[in-house]
Amino acid sequence: MSEVLVLVEHAEGAVRTITGELLTAARRLGSPAAVVVGVPGTTDSLRADLTALGAEKIYAAESDDVGKYLVTPQVAALAAAAQGASPAAILLPNTVDGKDIGGRLAVRLGSGLIADAVDLDAEGVATQSIFGGSYTVQTKVTTPAPIVLLRQNAISAEPQAGAGEVTALEFSVDPATATTVTAVHVEPAGDRPELAGAQTVVSGGRGVGSAEQFAVVEDLADALGAAVGASRAAVDSGYYPQQFQVGQTGTTVSPQLYVALGISGAIQHRAGMQTSKTIVAVNKDPDAPIFEIADFGVVGDLFDVAPKLSEEVKARKA
Ligand SMILES: Cc1cc2nc3c(=O)[nH]c(=O)nc-3n(C[C@H](O)[C@H](O)[C@H](O)COP(=O)(O)OP(=O)(O)OC[C@H]3O[C@@H](n4cnc5c(N)ncnc54)[C@H](O)[C@@H]3O)c2cc1C
Repeated sequence: MSEVLVLVEHAEGAVRTITGELLTAARRLGSPAAVVVGVPGTTDSLRADLTALGAEKIYAAESDDVGKYLVTPQVAALAAAAQGASPAAILLPNTVDGKDIGGRLAVRLGSGLIADAVDLDAEGVATQSIFGGSYTVQTKVTTPAPIVLLRQNAISAEPQAGAGEVTALEFSVDPATATTVTAVHVEPAGDRPELAGAQTVVSGGRGVGSAEQFAVVEDLADALGAAVGASRAAVDSGYYPQQFQVGQTGTTVSPQLYVALGISGAIQHRAGMQTSKTIVAVNKDPDAPIFEIADFGVVGDLFDVAPKLSEEVKARKA
């Protein structure tokens, strides 16, 4: 059975949720092979989790140079693994870095790439959400080693223990063509879930009206154990930091529950959230386009509705 390479997303010694989803998708096509790119020792700390999630093979692409360069180590490691394994497919997360890595890798391998995939079947046919989510199409790469970027939360991880056999993978980075990292600033993470992988997201738009009033969005998010998101208009108005922007030029989310407060529902916002399982919108304009995709809509003032919702959620949890 051909290998299907999966780029492992990891942070602080832990495998990120998307990796389990990619390994599950990989099993549909062939034998899941996880590619760990990290400093020496990284694979040891991830091996048990990757094996439990379904990795039959684990490529340990370890070097002190990882972290010194932006994405090039991941590209070089995946290219080295692909040249040795002739994989049935290469799966990456549909993140900003994943798109960067996938594009560069496609050029190196002379391979085709599908981004924004929300499903992948056993024949390698991807379901793809395109043109800002306006169309859903079925696509397939016809060159060898197809590269597919899957959205987080699009498919459910179904852990099934694999063999977890570790193989060292040699790769090299040419500093002349790599972008060097000169400084790293880590934003404080806070107690809320990470936006991209959150199961519940509460987002605020320009209708929130000010940075101070965004507290109403945060209160509901905290009551629900949710991540906070924002529309671009809210970000551009200085109400909330850019890293929380949801949409075409922000983060793509696909949670179980998405609550939109004072967001009109422009196509560029919808592109980043319309695959959410359940969408709840609060807007005082009954004709706001967000209601076209909402499962539940409340026509009303968010400053009346959101605090009542927070109180109700807190009361039911008590
Ligand atoms: C190339 C490009 C990329 C873009 N990328 C993104 C992106 O990634 N993400 C994104 O979000 N946008 C993006 N945009 C911008 C997008 O087109 C919209 O301008 C933006 O999404 C609007 O944000 P909004 O809904 O918060 O604001 P508005 O459109 O101003 O809507 C505010 C809404 O709040 C409602 N409201 C006001 N007060 C209240 C109240 N008290 N209670 C309840 N409802 C209230 C109003 O009825 C209105 O519907 C992009 C645009 C371009 C051109």
